[in-house]
Amino acid sequence: MFEMLIKNATLVTWEKPNRILPGHALWIEGGQISELGPSADLERGHPSAEMIDAHGQLVLPGNICAHTHFYGAFARGMEIPGDAPSDFPQILQKLWWPLDRSLTAEDVQFSALLCLVDAIHYGTTTLLDHHSSPNVVDGSLDIIERAVNEAGVRAVLCYEVSDRDGPAKMREGIDENVRFFEKTSTAPGMVGAMFGLHASLTLSDASLDFCRESAPEGSGFHIHVAESEADERDSLEKAGSRVVERLQRRGILGPRTIAAHCVHVDDHEIELLAETKTWVSHQPRSNMNNGVGVARVEKMLGAGISVCLGNDGFSNAMWEEWKTAYLLHKVHHLDPRRMSGTAVVAMAVHNNAALVSSFFPQTPVGVLQPGAAADLMFVDYHAPTPLTDTNLPWHILFGFRDSMVTATMAGGRFLMRDRQLLTLDEAEIAAKASELAAKAWRRYESSF
Ligand SMILES: [Zn+2]
Repeated sequence: MFEMLIKNATLVTWEKPNRILPGHALWIEGGQISELGPSADLERGHPSAEMIDAHGQLVLPGNICAHTHFYGAFARGMEIPGDAPSDFPQILQKLWWPLDRSLTAEDVQFSALLCLVDAIHYGTTTLLDHHSSPNVVDGSLDIIERAVNEAGVRAVLCYEVSDRDGPAKMREGIDENVRFFEKTSTAPGMVGAMFGLHASLTLSDASLDFCRESAPEGSGFHIHVAESEADERDSLEKAGSRVVERLQRRGILGPRTIAAHCVHVDDHEIELLAETKTWVSHQPRSNMNNGVGVARVEKMLGAGISVCLGNDGFSNAMWEEWKTAYLLHKVHHLDPRRMSGTAVVAMAVHNNAALVSSFFPQTPVGVLQPGAAADLMFVDYHAPTPLTDTNLPWHILFGFRDSMVTATMAGGRFLMRDRQLLTLDEAEIAAKASELAAKAWRRYESSF
C-alpha cells in the first residue's frame, strides 16, 4: 500500500464544526489518514517518509456524488429525432430509453471511463451510480466495477430494474443486483453495491414485491422517486396511493435506501421519508434541465431527512451542482435567504459523507481525521478575503472553480497530480469513446 506524508498543506477537515489548519500535514498509510498534525511535528515523526509538498494548497476530502448515471455519457451532442420532448415521460421515451438500449458492453465500459476521467479532474472521489443497459444486463456491473477500479475511485453500483422491457429483462436486472451485491459483500474494497430500481412508474406491485423478496439481507434500494408529476399520477392510478406511500407499503424504504429527486412529494410523503430514515438525493441541474420542478429540500432537511447531493449524470464537477442548488431555491422562492451555504454543505459534505460511510463502515469517508479514508483533493485557491472555519461555504460558492483542483487521491493513491491524470489516459479514452458513441448514435436513430 501507499505510504506518504503530505506536508505544508492548509487542511479543511469538514468535521462538525469545520476546521481550517494551515501549515499542517497528513500521514497516509494503508489507504487511510493515519495522523494529522502540524507539518513540522509530522515531518520529525516520519523522517524517511516519501514527502509530498502541498505548497500551502487547500487539502480537502474528495467530493462525493450521491446519484449519477455513467451510462448517459454518450448523450452529449446527440440529436433527438423529431419534435423536442415536451415533458419528462417523453424525455425518457425519446432520449434515455432508446439510448440505454443502444449500449453494448464496450459502450458501458467507455461511458463509465468518460465519467471517471471527469470525476478525477474535479476531485470527485466517490460516486453512487444507477446503471441501465437493457441489452447488456448480466455482467454490466462487473464492467463498471473494472472501470472504477482502473480509475481508482470509490463507487457504489446498482442496476435499474424496470418492467419497461418485459418480465425477462426485469428478472435479469434483479439477478444482476443480487449477484453483484453478494460479490462485493464477500470481497469488500473500493466498490459497494445497492439494489437499483428505475422508478415507481415503471414497476408493478408484483415486480416491487419480487425485488423486495430477492434483495439480499443488508442491501438498500436506489430508486428515482417523484422526479416528475407523472410518477405521482401513475402511482395514484396504479396503486391508489402516492409514490412514497406505495414504496413504504412494498417495503422499499428504510435507512439503506436512496430516494433520488423527490421533487413532487407532499407533506405526508416527507413524513414517511423522515420516519423511515430514507436518504433523499437532490439534483438541481437535472431538475432544471428536465423542467420537472424544484424539490422542497429545506422542508425535507427541516423534517430531519438526510438530503444528499448528486448530479444525475451531469458533470462530476460537483461545485457546479452546489452553486446551482444555492441559486435555484432563491430565485424559485423569490427570497435570497433560502438555501444558505450551510444548507448546501449539509447536503454536499456532511450528508453525502454519512451516506458513503454507511457503505464503507470500517473507514469514514468525507472527513479529514485519523482513521478516515485518504480520499482527498488539492485546491489551488488564493483567498482574496479572510477565509475562516465558518465562511468557507461562501468562498466555495463564489470563488472556487472546479479547475482549481490540482490533485486527486482516493484510498491513499494519487489519481491525479499537478493536473496530470495518473490512472486513466484521457485522450485515448475520449478518442475510443467518440468512435463508439458514433455507432451507438446510429443504433439509437434506427430505433425510431
Ligand atoms: Zn437519475
